[in-house]
Amino acid sequence: MEQPPTLNTTNLMPITTRPSLIMARGKGSYLWDSDGKRYLDLVQGWAVNCLGHCPDVMIKALNDQATTLINPSPAFHNERYLELATKLARLSGLDHTFFANSGAEANEGAIKLARKWGRLHRDGAFEIITTHNAFHGRTLATMAASGKPGWDAIFPPFMPGFTKVDFGDLAAVKAAISDRTCAVMVEPIQGEAGVIVPPDGYLRGLRELTQAHGILLIADEVQTGVARTGKMFGHQWEDARPDIMTLGKGLGGGVPLSALMARAEVSCFAPGDQGGTFNGNPLMTAVGSAVVDTVSQPAFLAAINARGGQLQSRLQEIGARFGFSEIRGRGLLIAVTLDTPKAETVRDVALSRGLLVNAPRPNTLRFMPALNITESEIDDAMTLLGDVLGAVGA
Ligand SMILES: *Cc1c(COP(=O)(O)O)cnc(C)c1O
Repeated sequence: MEQPPTLNTTNLMPITTRPSLIMARGKGSYLWDSDGKRYLDLVQGWAVNCLGHCPDVMIKALNDQATTLINPSPAFHNERYLELATKLARLSGLDHTFFANSGAEANEGAIKLARKWGRLHRDGAFEIITTHNAFHGRTLATMAASGKPGWDAIFPPFMPGFTKVDFGDLAAVKAAISDRTCAVMVEPIQGEAGVIVPPDGYLRGLRELTQAHGILLIADEVQTGVARTGKMFGHQWEDARPDIMTLGKGLGGGVPLSALMARAEVSCFAPGDQGGTFNGNPLMTAVGSAVVDTVSQPAFLAAINARGGQLQSRLQEIGARFGFSEIRGRGLLIAVTLDTPKAETVRDVALSRGLLVNAPRPNTLRFMPALNITESEIDDAMTLLGDVLGAVGA
C-alpha cells in the first residue's frame, strides 16, 4: 500500500516564517500541537476566534447546516444569509449587507462602492482619504489603501486614488478633502499598526466633517467589529455611525466570513457590479449568526469589558516591574509598548513556555484573546508573561 506523504513544507509558497511545530487541536483558550504540548492562546487566529477554539455553538451551527445545505449556488437566496443580514442591520443601523470571505474582499467592495457613489453623486470624485500605518488588506486596491511603509513599491504600478494622512489628526483630514474626494476610510482603532487608539472625539469629528463636506465615512471594522472592543462595533464608542462598514475576522468566529455594509442611500451597486462564488454561502453565514447572537448579548459585552479591565490592570502590575511605556486598547484588543525592542524575543520565549502572544512591532506586544476568556485564564497568562519577561530581561 502507498504510504501517506510525510508532512513537509516543500510544496508551499514561502510567504512567511513560521515555527516548525504543527498545531493539531484546540478548545476554548487552549491550543495543542502535534506533540501534545499545550498553549494558552492570547492571539486566537489574529482576533478571529472570538468564542475561542471549537466552541459548541459553532460546532452545532456547522453540523446542522452541513447536513442541511452547504451551497445552493449564489444564484439563489438561502435562509442563513437572509437571517444574518437582518441581524446585522438591526445591530448596526446599516441597511444593506454584502457577504464576502475575507476582510480584504469586504474592503475592496467598500472601495468600489465609494467610487461608484462618487461617480453617481459627486461628479466623478474617486479619491479616498486613508491613514498612514493603516491596514486594510492584501489585494492590490486594499494594499494601496493601507499605509504600510514600503507597500507602494512591491507590485508596481501602485493603484492610484488614495490620499494618506496621519491617523488621529482631524485637521489633516480636513485639509486633504478636495472636489475629487469621495470618502474617508479608517479603522476605529488601528489594529495591525499596534492597537493605536485615536484621540477622544476623532471618530465623532470624522463623522461631522464628512457629513459637512458631503462625502462618505467608511469604517474598517474588520478587527474592531463584532464585540472585540467591548461594544458590538468600535465606532459605537463615539456614536459615530459610518455610511459604509466592513466586518471580518471575528464575524465567522474562525471560518471565512466577512461583510460589507452600507446605508440604503449609499448602497448603489447595480446587478453585476459585485458578486462572488462563495459569497453568502449558508455554511459560513449559519456560523456568523451563531457568533453574532452570542456576542451581542449585553451580559457577554459586559464580561468583555470586565476581562479587558482585568487584563489591563494585570499588565500595569507587570509593567511596573519590567517597564512598559504604554498600555492601550479597548475591550479585549490591547497592546503594550516595551521599553526595548524585544517583542519578538518575548513572543518566541512565550511560545516555548506555552503562551501565545503577538508582536506586531519590534517593541509592541498585542493581546486579542477569546472574548469569553475566563478570569483565571487571564491570571494564568499574566503569570506566564511575567516569567517570560523576567527570563528575557525585557
Ligand atoms: C485583518 C484585517 C484586514 C484584512 O482581513 P483579511 O481577512 O486578512 O483579508 C483588513 N482590515 C483590518 C482592520 C484588519 O485587521
